[in-house]
Order: sequence, then C-alpha cells, then structure tokens
Amino acid sequence: QIPAYDDNNIFAKILRGEAPAHKVYEDEQTFAFMDIMPMGEGHTLVIPREPAVTMFDLSAEGAAALIQTTQKVAHAVRAAFEPEGVVCAQFSGAPAGQTVFHIHFHIIPRWQNVEMNL
Ligand code: 5GP
Repeated sequence: QIPAYDDNNIFAKILRGEAPAHKVYEDEQTFAFMDIMPMGEGHTLVIPREPAVTMFDLSAEGAAALIQTTQKVAHAVRAAFEPEGVVCAQFSGAPAGQTVFHIHFHIIPRWQNVEMNL
C-alpha cells in the first residue's frame, strides 16, 4: 500500500521554492539537485514535478520524463566528476529504503577503489 502524497514533504517544498536546493537541471516535468547528505562525490537526485510517492503511483508519462532526465543528468554527472561507473537507483517504499516520500532517482558516481554501502 502506498502512503497518501504529503504536500509538505521536503521535495515538494524544494519544487515550490519553499526550501533551498542546489539545482543542476530543470524542465517542465522534472527537477534535479545535489543530495544534501551525499553517499559520495557528485550524488544527485532527480524528481518529477508530478506529486507521486513511488514508482507505483507515478504516471507512465511521468516515468518517461523521469528516466529521460535521469539519463541527461547522468551524462552531466559523468562529465563533471569522471567516475568509473554510475549507480542510478530508486527506492519505492520504506522497507526498500525510501525516506522521502516523493519519488526520486539517485545518481551516484562510483570508483573502483572507493568503498560505499548503498
Ligand atoms: P531515499 O532513501 O528516500 O531514497 O533518499 C532520500 C535522499 O534525499 C537521501 O539521500 C537524503 O540525503 C536526501 N535528502 C533528504 N532531505 C534532503 C533535503 O532537504 N535536500 C536535499 N538536497 N536532499 C535531501
């Protein structure tokens, strides 16, 4: 079961400009910004403007826009940080590790010799 969308979640506030964020990209349907507690250098988040909690209540159009922006931002992150690999991850539901209940993709640069617990 998906919790009801809460208009006061922190990403909704960022979308409305009521909370600060280090924006890296935006368009009509999506928004991308740096993670405030990065798992590593260059950790970026991508969100749809659509108020969806998880993968399961996001529209197909929202999902298409979200993955397109995720790819665009992954290209930019790769160009900026020159990682050896990139994790693109999405956690739907608290048991999966979701802590902010507005769907988001994590883009996390990775290096062979840098440890990280995802
Ligand atoms: P989740 O575990 O829900 O997939 O990830 C939520 C992510 O949002 C975490 O990586 C966390 O550091 C990030 N985050 C939480 N609050 C804020 C905030 O106010 N600003 C930014 N930029 N990132 C946040």
